[in-house]
Amino acid sequence: MIDLRSDTVTKPSPAMRAFMIEAEVGDDGYGEDPTVSALERRVAALTGFEAGLFVASGTMGNQVALRTLTQPGDPVIVSARAHLLQFEAGASAKNSSIQLLAVDDRHGYPDPDQVADLVRQYRRLHNPIRLIAVENTHMPSGGVPIDQTVMNAIIEAADGTPIYIDGARLWNAAVALDVTPAGLCQGAIAVSTCLSKGLAAPMGSVLSGSQEFIERARIERARLGGRLRQAGIMAAGGLYALDHNMSRLADDHRRARSLAASIKTQLPSATADVLGVRTNIVLLKVQEPHQYLARLHEHGVLCNVLPAGDVRLVTHYDLDDRAIELAASRILASL
Ligand SMILES: *Cc1c(COP(=O)(O)O)cnc(C)c1O
Repeated sequence: MIDLRSDTVTKPSPAMRAFMIEAEVGDDGYGEDPTVSALERRVAALTGFEAGLFVASGTMGNQVALRTLTQPGDPVIVSARAHLLQFEAGASAKNSSIQLLAVDDRHGYPDPDQVADLVRQYRRLHNPIRLIAVENTHMPSGGVPIDQTVMNAIIEAADGTPIYIDGARLWNAAVALDVTPAGLCQGAIAVSTCLSKGLAAPMGSVLSGSQEFIERARIERARLGGRLRQAGIMAAGGLYALDHNMSRLADDHRRARSLAASIKTQLPSATADVLGVRTNIVLLKVQEPHQYLARLHEHGVLCNVLPAGDVRLVTHYDLDDRAIELAASRILASL
């Protein structure tokens, strides 16, 4: 079975496991786990912020950030197909009681004109937009990385409204654009980055921001039941991943392009958007996507269908060139 469902399906390598076992640990609830603290400092530095907070998942990173940066009833702008809106089981409504306002994201980022309009409108209503969330890379448009030029347009449209980055795949964006993660976070108030996607660690995300933000986020994490103890074992997986698996994200991107290209060359009618492949995600438009998914499964390929109907194929650490070639032939055989 070739698993293209997500870059979350990877298993920790033997070397990563060995490194995790050796981790120095303590009670992080008392701030005494040196490995967790090292990971938090490391990710904060990489993203250009003062401090970091290790959380159990990307969803928890987003939810802690929203609880820290908003009050119940606040309007918050998100892109229409954002993870925050589509894939967190309504958590933003339940945990923060905020009003999410969806803006067009067909180009892979929240449309700056719509953002500017909403910011103005809500100020006139004396109910100003509290936060704007930007997903980088933007998964539903095929993993589009948002560069500093687009970020600047969004920052200008925001007109002083704080911007939060859901950077579950920020590392992919930085590698694809050949810029630093910190460069992509300039002008943002906070960012959440995943260790358990392309970096192939077994668990965790780090939320980064100012010292003051992280102190308040730590309380919100506790309120969600996310205060951790000897979590250094898991944090060590993250540290190992940052040291060893960052530059290889370019291999995932190359393999996604080659997967899209072989589908396209052998089947010109397929609407795999070869040029559109920017990182590690290939979107395929087919008739009856759910039936296609079942046929693919019979041919030994696992993948997902997005709510909009696109078949999503994600390359990752556990798939080499051979697996991608094999996947391409099975994908064509199932069409
Ligand atoms: C995967 C993902 C998350 C959530 O991460 P989990 O660890 O699965 O909770 C959040 N945002 C984006 C953009 C993601 O791709």
